[in-house]
Amino acid sequence: DAWAELRSVSKTYQSRNQPVTAVHDVSLSIARGEFISIVGPSGCGKSTLLSMLAGLSQPTTGEVRIHGQAITKPYPGVGIVFQRDLLLEWLTVKQNVLFQIDMRRGRVKDYEGRARELLAQVGLQGFENRYPSELSGGMRQRVAICRALIHSPEVLLLDEPFGALDSLTREQMNLDLQDLWLDGKPTVVLITHDINEALFLSDRVLVMSSRPGTFVDDIRIDVPRP
Ligand code: ADP
Ligand code: ADP
Repeated sequence: DAWAELRSVSKTYQSRNQPVTAVHDVSLSIARGEFISIVGPSGCGKSTLLSMLAGLSQPTTGEVRIHGQAITKPYPGVGIVFQRDLLLEWLTVKQNVLFQIDMRRGRVKDYEGRARELLAQVGLQGFENRYPSELSGGMRQRVAICRALIHSPEVLLLDEPFGALDSLTREQMNLDLQDLWLDGKPTVVLITHDINEALFLSDRVLVMSSRPGTFVDDIRIDVPRP
């Protein structure tokens, strides 16, 4: 039961009139409820792949299908977290989480309970009315994850979400992310430099190599999950 399918997807950028192939002929099927990690060296095309999965950019050739339909514009059923948390400093923690609902023209009132629940789940109860500048890096990134999950997306896309955090905080974030995942088991695609993180969290690790930006390995992890 596939959530998404990439069919011979390539992406070439024009950079100073020189073509740069970021992703070359990638085919991939992502099952519903699967936790996939993509690892590979910097510049191999991981972010480009993720942005095509979200419909934020379009392949040069090939297609991205979600629920069997080719997507040609930003897909609303995704939640995304980037390495930089992109929190709005003038809004409180709760307002940052609910901002996503505002953007989607939802009724903010209907989501206040869920915002409180999500924040409590990552240990941020009591911080709802604080401002981002009062939080540590790990706490800020937890807020960003809650913001990505507030509209109950089909898929959570994570682009090096813990890349800017120290290793101890990363460990804690991994445990939190696993808890969040176990609660509902959404489909997750995680980009990371950290192979241990990938092995700990995922059902499947895709190894990507630069030149020409394609998958070189597809590892299924057969360790029983909690
Ligand atoms: P990764 O996420 O693995 O670091 P990216 O997808 O960010 O890789 O980049 C893959 C390649 O595409 C790199 O060579 C990068 O310089 C190039 N690239 C990415 N975005 C653009 C862009 N908007 N314009 C031109 N080249 C880009
Ligand atoms: P994290 O691992 O989330 O980055 P830290 O290791 O910096 O957080 O801090 C551990 C705990 O200390 C947090 O979970 C929080 O309870 C508390 N804490 C950290 N920074 C702050 C702050 N600026 N204001 C209030 N409490 C904080």
